[in-house]
Amino acid sequence: MKRIEASLCLPLIIKNKLIGIIVLGEKISKDAYTKEDFDLLATLSNQASVAIENASLYNNMEEIVDSQTKDIKDKNIRLEKLLKVQSEFLDISSHQLRTPVSVIKGVTTMMLEGDMDNLPKEKKNKFLQAIADKSVKLENIINDILSASEFDSAKFAIKANTPQIPIEKVIEDAVKSSKLEAEQRNIDLIWQKPLKPLPEIRGESRYLEQAVGNLISNALKYTPSTKMVKEARAQREIKGVVKVEVSKDKDGILVKVSDNGIGIPQDEVKKLFAKFARASNATAMYTDGSGLGLFIVKEIIDGHKGKVWVESEIDKGSTFYILLPVAGKVDAIGSIIKEEVKVYNRYYGKK
Ligand code: ADP
Repeated sequence: MKRIEASLCLPLIIKNKLIGIIVLGEKISKDAYTKEDFDLLATLSNQASVAIENASLYNNMEEIVDSQTKDIKDKNIRLEKLLKVQSEFLDISSHQLRTPVSVIKGVTTMMLEGDMDNLPKEKKNKFLQAIADKSVKLENIINDILSASEFDSAKFAIKANTPQIPIEKVIEDAVKSSKLEAEQRNIDLIWQKPLKPLPEIRGESRYLEQAVGNLISNALKYTPSTKMVKEARAQREIKGVVKVEVSKDKDGILVKVSDNGIGIPQDEVKKLFAKFARASNATAMYTDGSGLGLFIVKEIIDGHKGKVWVESEIDKGSTFYILLPVAGKVDAIGSIIKEEVKVYNRYYGKK
């Protein structure tokens, strides 16, 4: 007390805990402190303790309110996003779901009302086939909408511990699943296996198969089974061909899905990876598209830290590319650094 020239110390106590001390020097008058002074100062220190407690409670409250407000704001932003997605889905449902539903409804009503009773069997089968086809389209659209909403609600994300997978097998599986569709559309589906074994990538097989599958399915949808091409003097009929390739590129694993179909108008290419986007020449060829397939592909590939893009020429065909980073590059760099550290420590005699 002498060192700091203090004459009197008043403890500040809250709930039996010392939270501070008021230190007073000697009185200006140089007189000694009296009993009245002590009483007055004791009251003052009590009141100061209460005031400090209130202030700290207030600060805590403010922190709690701030964090709760932030929480509510975050939830609000998320809710707004979900509502936006929901209203977009309602828009799309009214457009895209209406066509197949009206066919199914029309044909079944005709049947129930007996309009088909006297039709020959082949004709009846044709109508039944229309119901079956439209049901498949309905199912596809609903699956697309569900997948897109899954990605929208941020459920899809590649985590740090995502496994390493053989990409060749994933693509081969996607091709296999598309075989029947290719046969039905009478299009040659060619799977060009890589010449050398490919390095593994980090990813979710299920999602990557879905992404490649969407590109193959689009290529099959937007390629006629045959078309006429002009040659020097005559016209020649060529078959619809969809080719799937995968190779190791200097920047990673490059997947290519190419077709000789209708192509995409140059000025519409960029928008196609957005939700519900469809090119003007596609709607005539395939009425029941959801416009969600490429959006889903982009979300999946972005999630894998990859890239997706397209090169296309109208009436000649399109090639969609997916570039995925090779797994282990970072791990390899990590082990090189570890090795360097070991060498350094050995050199400088550290353990
Ligand atoms: P959908 O096929 O259901 O319309 P997608 O999101 O899969 O939706 O594709 C968006 C649009 O991109 C298609 O409507 C079409 O205009 C265009 N497109 C996609 N793939 C091809 C392709 N291989 N050839 C031509 N156009 C394509």
